[in-house]
Amino acid sequence: MRDTKIMSYHNHFNYKRGELFCESTCISEVAQKVGTPFYLYSYNSLIGNYRKFAHTFSKLSPLICYSLKANGNLTLSRILAQEGAGADILSEGELHKALQAGFPPQKIVFAGPGKKEKEIECALKENIFMLNVESASELELIEKTAQRLNHTARVSLRLNPDVDVKTHRYITTGKKENKFGLVFDEAEKLYEKIKKSSLLKPVGIHMHIGSQITSSEPYLRALEKAGELFDLLKEKGLDLQYIDMGGGFGISYKKGKPPLDIEELAEKIYPLIKKREAKLIIEPGRFLVGPAGLLITQVLYKKRRREKTFIIVDAGMNDLIRPSLYDAYHQIKKLKEPDEAESDETVDVVGPVCESGDFFALGRSLPKISEGEYLALMDAGAYSFSMSFSYNARPRPAEVLVKEDHWWIIRKRETYQDLIKGEVIPDELFSSSKDSSAKNFSTISPSKREVAIFPSQKEPIFDLIPFTKMQGSGNDFIVVDNRGKIIKDRENFSKRVCSRKKGIGADGLLLLEESDKANFKMRIFNPDGTEAEMCGNAARCIARFVYLKGIAGEKCSFETLSGPISSYMNETQVKIRMKDPSRLHLNLKLILEDGSYEGHYLDTGVSHFILFVPEVEKAPLEKLGPKIRYHPYFQPQGTNVNFVEVERNGLKVRTYERGVEGETLSCGTGVVAAAIIADIVRGLGSPLKVKTKGGGLKVYFQRRDKTNFAQVFLEGEAKVVYEGRYERKGK
Ligand code: PLP
Repeated sequence: MRDTKIMSYHNHFNYKRGELFCESTCISEVAQKVGTPFYLYSYNSLIGNYRKFAHTFSKLSPLICYSLKANGNLTLSRILAQEGAGADILSEGELHKALQAGFPPQKIVFAGPGKKEKEIECALKENIFMLNVESASELELIEKTAQRLNHTARVSLRLNPDVDVKTHRYITTGKKENKFGLVFDEAEKLYEKIKKSSLLKPVGIHMHIGSQITSSEPYLRALEKAGELFDLLKEKGLDLQYIDMGGGFGISYKKGKPPLDIEELAEKIYPLIKKREAKLIIEPGRFLVGPAGLLITQVLYKKRRREKTFIIVDAGMNDLIRPSLYDAYHQIKKLKEPDEAESDETVDVVGPVCESGDFFALGRSLPKISEGEYLALMDAGAYSFSMSFSYNARPRPAEVLVKEDHWWIIRKRETYQDLIKGEVIPDELFSSSKDSSAKNFSTISPSKREVAIFPSQKEPIFDLIPFTKMQGSGNDFIVVDNRGKIIKDRENFSKRVCSRKKGIGADGLLLLEESDKANFKMRIFNPDGTEAEMCGNAARCIARFVYLKGIAGEKCSFETLSGPISSYMNETQVKIRMKDPSRLHLNLKLILEDGSYEGHYLDTGVSHFILFVPEVEKAPLEKLGPKIRYHPYFQPQGTNVNFVEVERNGLKVRTYERGVEGETLSCGTGVVAAAIIADIVRGLGSPLKVKTKGGGLKVYFQRRDKTNFAQVFLEGEAKVVYEGRYERKGK
């Protein structure tokens, strides 16, 4: 019979045709493209583990809060958020990541024995589901903060039930000698305080007794204690509803060592929860992501000594610290399927880091390994990348997600630039004056020195909104990833940030938001706060933004108010497929005060009026632009106005933009409208080069008949100008 316990989570890593595959992707092909070391995750393994877990506990309809500390990668977290999971967090940083990943605040629980006041404040402001409190002083601080913010705080106390879970001593958290939680009597007393407080609202009882637990028994003992406290407190009139049993569900790292039998656990805890009519919260981390990830590394050298043979690989303890820290065991597999006929050899698999503790396996019997070949450290999805660091100035590895035969880099390998990010060399220390160095340094006022050395520690991180300033053919935008809804009042925010004098300054604000139809949704706000339907330059910028941030690949599709857009990346050039043009109106005569003007109208996602002029530089844009924009024919929305000169090799275009209420250096949809109209009235054909003040663009299209066009593409540059953080003024 198959060992069903070992298979109780999803395995999508198998040898096919002599190579290790993840789903339908050959891992060594990814390794050749991405370089090593890198983490690789299986989408179907992750989602399968979550579904299996949810299904097993479904009789109790629990709130499953994924423990972000296991692996906080945004893509993996988002996959779980979309499956309906909530999040268990330990810090403000994790709160920030959880919101970015899309976990709703009402499904976020916050544990940890050392929460700072700022972290508590932030959790209260974000209105998360509950704070799991670990000491009397923390409860006091939460109450004070709630009072200051005029907010009630939903709290549970973390019970330390004093049970031994028989795991590594560093990951045991529910014994009374561990720093975590409150023992029974302390908790009982503190719940009295909660009962009396008008600012604290009791939610339930929390526990987390350890990690990599492979037997149900400690959970049952802990839940019995929690149940006893729950009953006692209910008798005392506390309105408790939830029992949060934490995480800790063990997986199988080693052949023959089965994982926790979660079916048995679910069965056994059922009566304990049901009898109290309590609602259940569970916080799995490792069980969901652990078996879904591998660390792929390449063998650098094989070094033989009489005593032993070392396999020196290019991943180190900084990439995966579990063996060094916990003596953890990870199976090691060759990406090339080993030849069964060949005998194994006993080796130490070690990394390049300058520590003797830098190893992945000691005295392990493995199939013959050669220099240059790839190895996989199995079950490395949890507490692996999330515990990585850059000791020995080793950039942290890339992360890749595989789904069937597709794969994406979901986190880029760190660069050498990343390694020195935030470091500041005080100029005064190295000034060339004679008596520089120590003397000069000591003359800097203490406050100046502090700012110079530790600038980032002065910043209230959570109130700063990360943005990327981009430009596409001279149209400049502020791009913000708003999937975590960090910006709610979009209109006012746009007015503030787009202001050239008081804000960052831009032609528009681009918000990346959730979409259930495409990779994401792009929303564009003008500097006057109005929302625009579409802008070709903006679309190129956001396509490059999602690519650079690892949110989407070289090809992606996104929603806009004017319909779906697809994009294709080619280094800094981005080609986007535009909406098929519509509402063509040729030879439209507009009567203005000073005469009549004949032009053409086309909707390329946005309204455009095209006026051919002999010399675009001399066109009266400032005078005519606003008059045509507000002409009654185009009301109520108004139109953009393009002045177009036909040149030998293409067009020259200047655009007056509605919303910006002035000339911009270039307008993507305007350029497309100009090219199509130029083809209709002057027969210029496709592709057509267009010069704007912001740079060159290329328009591609297919003409179906005289006035019907399809397959319209706009190609041009999209560049990052800089990244920064903008201080939020109230929410
Ligand atoms: N909940 C809390 C409070 C934790 O501290 C942890 C991990 O340390 C977890 C849940 C997740 O544990 P595991 O990954 O073992 O399921």
